[in-house]
Amino acid sequence: MSVAASQSEHLCVACGICCSGTLFNRAVVYEGEDERLLALGFSVTEVDGDRVFPLRCVQLSGTLCTVYPDRPLACRTYRCATLRAFEALEIDRPEADRRVVTTKAAIADLHVTLGDESIAELKQQLTAGTPVAPELKLQLGIVELLLGRYFKLPDDHPDSGVTDLARA
Ligand code: SF4
Ligand code: SF4
Repeated sequence: MSVAASQSEHLCVACGICCSGTLFNRAVVYEGEDERLLALGFSVTEVDGDRVFPLRCVQLSGTLCTVYPDRPLACRTYRCATLRAFEALEIDRPEADRRVVTTKAAIADLHVTLGDESIAELKQQLTAGTPVAPELKLQLGIVELLLGRYFKLPDDHPDSGVTDLARA
């Protein structure tokens, strides 16, 4: 037994974390989808031999996908750990909502401290050994802890810098 597809959609419509560029920074474009996605306004490029589009997604408005009926196949098939647990009835909707709300609040707090800087830029600075304010490190750590606990899957790329939604 599992939840109805409409209940899953309802959860995702209130979330959007996987589209926001926080969990991943790009998504795979399946073979034959290039033209259709380019016509929709996606920017499709090649990275490490994969056709991809960047995240944060240009089609995301708030938590809503503006091309939902026409969204890429990667988006149709991707399910984060919380969505999987919800669909398998391992957690109920209030618990799924709690995870989403808690994580999004931590992401919002980090963005406030970052100002104009992006989370990707902060990660690049840390990777390069550039000194970073302790508060930013702490807030990023909290975000990564929540993403790791609730959203990432064991086969996601280890540094979460690469999305292959197709493999998720
Ligand atoms: S992160 Fe999970 S719950 Fe949120 S929109 Fe993506 S698949 Fe849905
Ligand atoms: S196309 Fe829609 S579902 Fe896919 S990443 Fe963009 S906003 Fe999210």
